[in-house]
Amino acid sequence: MNLRALAAPLALAAWRAAGPLRPNPPGAVRILILHDVPQVQFSVLASLIAELQRNAGLVTPAEAGARLGGGMPTDGKAPVLLTFDDGFRSNFQLAYEVLAPLRAKALFFVCPGLVDMERPERITAIGANIFRGRRGAGDLDLMDWEQIGRLAESGHEIGCHSARHVSLAGLAAPALEDEVGAAKARMEGVLGKASSWFAFPFGDVDSIDAPALAAIAGHFPFCRSGVRGLAHAASHPLALPAESIDLGVPVALRRLAAEGGMAPLYRRRLRRLEEMAS
Ligand SMILES: [Zn+2]
Repeated sequence: MNLRALAAPLALAAWRAAGPLRPNPPGAVRILILHDVPQVQFSVLASLIAELQRNAGLVTPAEAGARLGGGMPTDGKAPVLLTFDDGFRSNFQLAYEVLAPLRAKALFFVCPGLVDMERPERITAIGANIFRGRRGAGDLDLMDWEQIGRLAESGHEIGCHSARHVSLAGLAAPALEDEVGAAKARMEGVLGKASSWFAFPFGDVDSIDAPALAAIAGHFPFCRSGVRGLAHAASHPLALPAESIDLGVPVALRRLAAEGGMAPLYRRRLRRLEEMAS
């Protein structure tokens, strides 16, 4: 056991004990981020979702939008919105094997420019763009349009994760339009429906800037980041915080992340993101 594994249960107990001192702001939504989920982790994902349903409860993307838009009564709760980034094929499988039995609806962020590529080109782009060259695609591939369309027909929402999963920071206006506006138009053309949701690639404050957020603002009401924190009705809708969840870590650490216990370390980064968005 390493130090982190020993510290997490203590940190989780302390975080939960102090819960009553942290009332949830109006319209709070705890947005969780997952990526590719290998099949061996499906049971871990199922138990996480079942636990969330018993405790904070889940909301659909539409309900999350209504809460964040201030359109729901103040109830003191912070229900959870499940989001999955990058559109890996495992997401299609887990939608039927994990989410459907639990009647859970999620928001899947896909990259239309990658989906449109021929397979060899896409496999190269998965390694270069999504994994930033740190690893290759291995046996991973992305969902095709038919699978993405079936998720949408099953009541899940499909959000935009840029066209090709490149960092939007420092891009000039024409490139930004390709990655944001044209990506949205392509998704709308294939799926027949425009999404309200964008998530910028990589999610950290160094992968975004004010011009990119302004371009996103021109096309999407909501932009989810990867900066930890609790989204709520007074959050800037283009600087929504979210909690990345690693299903491979010990359960106490996973719960700590899912319940917001790591967010205090990210307050300054969230403030920087909000300043960029304003
Ligand atoms: Zn991504």
